Amino acid sequence: MTIKHHIADDLVLAYASGELDEATSLLVATHMSLCPQCRQALELAESIGGSLIEEEAEAEIADGELEAIFSRIENTKESATPAPVPERARRGSYVLPQPLRDYADGDVDGLRWRSLGGGVRHLPIDTGASRAKARLLYIPAGSKVPDHGHRGLELTLVLAGSFYDEGAWFRRGDVEEADATVEHQPVAGPEEACICLAVTDAPLRFRSLIPRLAQPFLGI
Ligand SMILES: [Zn+2]
Repeated sequence: MTIKHHIADDLVLAYASGELDEATSLLVATHMSLCPQCRQALELAESIGGSLIEEEAEAEIADGELEAIFSRIENTKESATPAPVPERARRGSYVLPQPLRDYADGDVDGLRWRSLGGGVRHLPIDTGASRAKARLLYIPAGSKVPDHGHRGLELTLVLAGSFYDEGAWFRRGDVEEADATVEHQPVAGPEEACICLAVTDAPLRFRSLIPRLAQPFLGI
């Protein structure tokens, strides 16, 4: 499994500091469970968070420093050597990674899908009072993902099969990020049904939050 589309750096930082709502955290955690590179980036983000506290607890993070942090995280993602995937996982014994199985109460076999028409099915995931909403989507091979409005950021994580959108293929572990201005209609690959975790209306961008990210590390 080669993951090409990762969690954005600012999302990794926001996740590390506990700033994300439950639905978005679930998607990030599920991607992390499949992606050694992002797990390494998370470790780095956590250590940067700690050192920022020591250096400038009161000061705001300057733009230049933010860029430096992002580029360090980016370099970590690029240079990380993926850990070998165990044979069992490679053969796909589970479609839903552990964080998602906890929410779905098992793997895909037991899911009570609801029809959206045209063979497309969905299953809302209960993430409590989370502002963003999480759902599983089942798109038959070769079918289009139905139109679905979202006001904020939409994150889609592929769990089985693949889809093609905006000139790129997305496969198991890949995350597509689309903001509210993007008009797109992903199409499932021809080989098998595509199962995704989609989180809609996540907070748009997190840049304004970044200067506050040190706060959770202080425990205040
Ligand atoms: Zn990743």
